[in-house]
This record gives sequence, structure tokens and C-alpha cells, in this order.
Amino acid sequence: MTCPAQIVVPKPLLAEILQHLPDADAAHLSWLTCDFDLHPHRDHYGYVDDIGATEQALWIVWTDETDEADEADEAEGTEDTPSSPPRVSVERICPSKSPSSEDACWLPLRHGTPHSWTRYE
Ligand SMILES: [Zn+2]
Ligand SMILES: [Zn+2]
Repeated sequence: MTCPAQIVVPKPLLAEILQHLPDADAAHLSWLTCDFDLHPHRDHYGYVDDIGATEQALWIVWTDETDEADEADEAEGTEDTPSSPPRVSVERICPSKSPSSEDACWLPLRHGTPHSWTRYE
């Protein structure tokens, strides 16, 4: 099962993405979901695109609020805010190939969750 976390990409990050990937479809990028399987750590990764032939890809990384932060927000009546601001991250792509070699993992190198090809094989 994949992680259900979603993010509306903040405008400044969108601009940063377009600096790396001028051909990216900005409308498509306005909204991302986490591409990991359910994970114990708090960092969510939303895949943006590969960067040319560099074996690297661009990701948006964002963090869940803690329960404590939730309560603090409610007490102050403020809107949900991530505990650390979302950021653009360039990550090496995981080199893992599936047993049949027909699928490859496209998650960041140290993703700490099952390889993405396990969803298909
Ligand atoms: Zn996630
Ligand atoms: Zn992998």
C-alpha cells in the first residue's frame, strides 16, 4: 500500500523545479502524492521527474506534523503547517532491478521502503 500523503506544491518550489526542469508541466506539478509505500519515517517524497541522463531525479520532500504540533496548531487556531518547509531535493535513483529485470526501482537511493518494482511483481 502506498503512502496517502499529499502536498500542494508551494509556488516558490514550483519556480525552483522549473529551474531544474524547464520542460516540466507546471500544472501537473501543482499537486503531488508521496511515492513511497507506507513508511515509518516522517519524510514524504513526491516524484517530479528524472534529470536528464544523470541517474538522478528531482523530488519534493515534505514532513508530517507531529501530534504535538497538531495540538499546538489547534490551540492557536492556526492552519496546518509542516514542521519543516517542503523542499526540492535531487536524489540518486535506486539501482535495484526486479528479478525479471523488466522493472526497476525509481525511488531515491536510500528509500527505506520496499522497492517500487515490488508493486508490479
Ligand atoms: Zn509518505
Ligand atoms: Zn529501490
